[in-house]
Parts: sequence; C-alpha cells; structure tokens
Amino acid sequence: MTDLLPYARQWIDEEDIQAVVNVLRSDWLTTGPMVEAFEKAIAKFVGAKYAVAVSSGTAALHAAMYAAGIFKGAKVLVPSMTFVATANAVVFQGGTPVFVDVEPDTLLTDPTKLQKKINPKTRAVVAVDYAGQPCAYDALRDITSHNDLVLIADACHALGAKHNGRKVGTLADLTVFSFHPVKHITTGEGGMVVTDNPEFAELIRRFRNHGITSDHRRRAEMGTWYYEMLDLGYNYRLTDIQCALGLSQLRKLPAWIERRREIARRYDEAFADDSYVKALKVYEKTYHVYHLYVIQLNLERLKANRATIFSSLRKAGIGVNVHYIPAHLHPYYRTSFGTGTGICPVAEVAYERILSLPMFPAMTDEDVTKVIAAVKGVMEIHSA
Ligand SMILES: *Cc1c(COP(=O)(O)O)cnc(C)c1O
Repeated sequence: MTDLLPYARQWIDEEDIQAVVNVLRSDWLTTGPMVEAFEKAIAKFVGAKYAVAVSSGTAALHAAMYAAGIFKGAKVLVPSMTFVATANAVVFQGGTPVFVDVEPDTLLTDPTKLQKKINPKTRAVVAVDYAGQPCAYDALRDITSHNDLVLIADACHALGAKHNGRKVGTLADLTVFSFHPVKHITTGEGGMVVTDNPEFAELIRRFRNHGITSDHRRRAEMGTWYYEMLDLGYNYRLTDIQCALGLSQLRKLPAWIERRREIARRYDEAFADDSYVKALKVYEKTYHVYHLYVIQLNLERLKANRATIFSSLRKAGIGVNVHYIPAHLHPYYRTSFGTGTGICPVAEVAYERILSLPMFPAMTDEDVTKVIAAVKGVMEIHSA
C-alpha cells in the first residue's frame, strides 16, 4: 500500500506555509482581518455579493438550512447520490430530508423526479454539483420559483464551475463550498456560504457566532462590552490561520482547475470507446471542474463485481474510491426516516457500478498513464 496513488490530495507550497506563519506572528488568530479578506476574495471569484466563512462545508450547509428557515417538520429535497452531510444538515435543523433520484448518465438530480416529490411541507431544494459538474440549474430554478422554495447549492465539488456561462455561486439562493483537503482548495477544515441576499448573509454571520449580533473584533473597535444573543447559534468560525491558507491557495485555483480538466481530457480519450467502463456524461455549455473523475462499470461485460475490481485496482497501486453510498441506504436514515432500497432506483443501480479514479492537480502525466493502463489491464482480466 506504500505507493498508493490517492484519489485526491492537497497541494501545499512554501507560499502557503509563509502565509500561515505570518498570521501566527500577528495579533489576530481568529475573527481578524484575514477572515474578511478570504470572504471577499471568494465572493469576487464566484461572482456573489456576500460570502461568510465557517468552520467546514458541513457547518456551511447547516448555516444555509438555518438561513433558509428550515424548522421541525419542514421537508427538504436532497439528491440520494451525495455525501451524508448534505442530508444531515437538514436534520440538524429538525427538518426531514426527502431523497430524490438522479439521472443515470450524470448522477445529478433529475428535475422531473424532483418536481414529483414536492408537497405543501416542502421548503427547500438542495442541488449537489456531483463530481464538479453544475446541476441543470435552469430547470431547478423554474421549479423552485414556481413553488416558492429556497434553492441551496451544495457546491462542495464545484468551486469555479460554470453552467451556461454562469458561475456556480450565482445560480442558487445560497451556495455552499468546502475547503477540506480533498476539495479544490484547502484550509485544513473550512467552508463558505455565498449569497446575493444581505439578510441571508447577516443571519449566517450571527449563526456562526453563537447567535450573537457583533463579533469580538467589532466590539474591540467600538470599545464596548455589550452584545446581544438573538437566536441560538454555534461556534462555526473559521480562524485567520485557516483563511490565510485559503487566500494563498485561491491564487493557484485557476491553474489547478485547468490541470484537472487536462487530466479529465486524457481519461475521456482513453475511455471513449471502452466497452468495460463509461465516463459520466457532461452537459453541453458546462465548465466542469472535476473534483472527481467517476467511471461506471459495464457489469454486463465483466465477470467480476465492483468490489473485486476495486481491490484489483488498489492492489495495482491505484487509490480508487466510491462516491457515494446513496445517503438513503445508510442505517441512520433507514432507522430514523424509514428510507431503504427502492426509493431511488437509479442511484442504487449506479452505486454498484461507480469508481472514482485519482484526480488532483499535482498528478503527473505518468500517474495518469499508470491509472489508465491499470484500469484497462484489470478490465481485460475480468472480461466476461
Ligand atoms: C465535502 C462535502 C461536504 C462536507 O464538507 P466538509 O468540509 O467535509 O464538512 C458536503 N457535501 C459534499 C457534496 C461534499 O463533497
């Protein structure tokens, strides 16, 4: 396992390290000027008016649910093919996630199926830009506007992506990003909510700071001790140490996205006419940022199942992974919300076939060649 090429990996350089060290020598380790600088930089990069930094992508989802007014009994539509945090955030606010099936070739929310799940208790829709490809936002926006629902984008895979020339960050009422090390840029742990709505932004600023109206730095500047807690909140703050790292990482993001797209092109070419594996479909007029490169196995042409193919590739040094076990199949959701097999059949079938191949900007051309050769070799061995 020593030489395993991972499916994702951060890229930290000396500039990043220096940025962090500079903050450690400064007055503000948290609630300082780096937080605002990072927020402004992300807002500008994605084209949104407001950005609020929080301690993780999960905290960002929770804050988005709070701003969207999710309460006990409210239903929120979430795709089944996602990380559990997407659905968990609904539950944090007392809401009920309603799982929606995905399209078989993109694994993105199927708008037709989404429409059918709306009822009077539905309050919001979460779109997950799976693998780094934006959802069909025009269709989703039509549905949410028509039914007076809040549209939340879980864009943890899609920082820098575009749909019909419009940036992710401008396509929903609230958009959420993650800065976990496997994502496009990292702050160790970290997240961000962006929005054009000033009230949402203010609610989230309060929510990340115990529900308190002003932060420590603002009170210090104003020379006062007084503050008010208006609602229940959390400590979901992101530190200046982390924001300095994020700012430094952000400068490299455009080049990293280009590199991810270059790697994807090589995979696309290699698997274009392959009878054993198929890449996910990419919509026209989409700028896909490839957090993941996912293939689907053509099990009809193979003697082995996905588990066997997975371990063969791991043994060959390829750190393949599976994204995701459909959320509605986890024991917690089965037990607490009565979900189970059969409610999202497309996601369930896809789950048996998907593999994520290594995809990160520091991968070399030789790494890509090695992955392609290993996939082709393992498929030949298991050919039916
Ligand atoms: C990574 C991720 C999250 C959670 O982000 P964290 O920063 O790890 O809390 C949520 N949703 C999706 C789709 C993700 O990929």
